[in-house]
Amino acid sequence: MKRVSIFGATGSVGLSTLDLVRRDPQAYRVVALTANSDVDSLATQARETSAQVAVIGQAHLYSALKEALTGSGIEAMAGEEALVEAAAMDVDWTMAAIVGCAGLRPTIAALKTGRTVALANKESLVSAGGLMMQAAQASGATLLPVDSEHNAIFQCLAGGSLDDVARITLTASGGPFRTRSRAEMADITPAQAVAHPNWSMGAKISVDSATMMNKGLELIEAAHLFPVGLDRIEILVHPQSVIHSMVEYRDRSTLAQLGSPDMRIPIAHALAWPQRIATPCQPLDLARIGRLDFEAPDPDRFPALRLARAAAAQGGATPTILNAANEVAVAAFLAGRIGFLDIAMIVEDVLERYGAPTPGAIDDVLAADAEARVRAGEVMERLTA
Ligand code: NAD
Ligand code: MG
Repeated sequence: MKRVSIFGATGSVGLSTLDLVRRDPQAYRVVALTANSDVDSLATQARETSAQVAVIGQAHLYSALKEALTGSGIEAMAGEEALVEAAAMDVDWTMAAIVGCAGLRPTIAALKTGRTVALANKESLVSAGGLMMQAAQASGATLLPVDSEHNAIFQCLAGGSLDDVARITLTASGGPFRTRSRAEMADITPAQAVAHPNWSMGAKISVDSATMMNKGLELIEAAHLFPVGLDRIEILVHPQSVIHSMVEYRDRSTLAQLGSPDMRIPIAHALAWPQRIATPCQPLDLARIGRLDFEAPDPDRFPALRLARAAAAQGGATPTILNAANEVAVAAFLAGRIGFLDIAMIVEDVLERYGAPTPGAIDDVLAADAEARVRAGEVMERLTA
């Protein structure tokens, strides 16, 4: 039996992970499940899977969770430190699917156990990539990428060597506004931005896909997971989201991984690795799809691509700042406080005015993250004044 914990269990990736785990109760034993504020869903999930502990991120919800778990024998925990404590429990496999930099400390704690961490929480790797990779190496943990592109690259690298890689191509759907002009993007509403053409995902990543900051974050993520050099990592727009990414070797042979756009496929790969398990996902029907299209990304209409590549090249705390400013701006856009085009503008403004020394420890990352959030708030105040 594999002992598994799921961080961010009530989210889009968390639910897909639970769906797979619950299909084979003989194979998996659920240890910890976590959520930020949805006590009822978390308690229901914990009861249905007979989890050992349930952790709610918001500390003030402790008594509500405890009450919802009455008589179940499941331990209730609450608050940020409880998330870290739960991540340090001895399990075989942890899904890191909290959204945002909030997932950083639990993910590091899970990596320190030296077991296997399936990583969906890309923001943690963007903010603290160097330190996270070091933590994994020091403990001997296995870090398995769940983001569909990085999972695809991981699969294309099986049996190959990074030294032989000529180029990695990250595919991008281009999001719901792929064909819009800048002028046509000004009035985009949150509802339009979260309606992704191919994938069903949480609100934050859906907005990131619409601005293409998601692909920018993924570029930084890829540079940490597959250190071939930034100039060997390319982005290619592929509207059908059938090819999830590609690896070209120096002999000019290119491997691609394909599949229906269903996150349960990369999650199942990470859950069973190095084995394979059956999934309920749709088989790929290429005859029905008929054609696959490709086009170059447009950094003029999608400035987030340019900002993220520059931040990746600069390194140090710059990706941390980029990520934090983006988190603040996306939350403000979703709350109806700023326009769609303001998101990248705010990120750029913060990057221009604020710099921090290269983080030597997680606390340095968290300090740069916190300061960048304050700066982003100030830019927004000027904007909405
Ligand atoms: P989501 O918003 O649907 O779910 C987020 C989860 O994190 C929820 O369980 C929520 O309760 C929890 N959470 C949010 N804020 C928290 C906080 N401050 N403290 C503790 N827990 C908190 O998000 P999602 O779409 O499932 O994405 C999760 C992560 O996976 C993101 O980093 C995203 O970029 C990445 N990812 C998602 C997809 C996808 O298809 N949804 C694909 C690739 C990568
Ligand atoms: Mg992705």
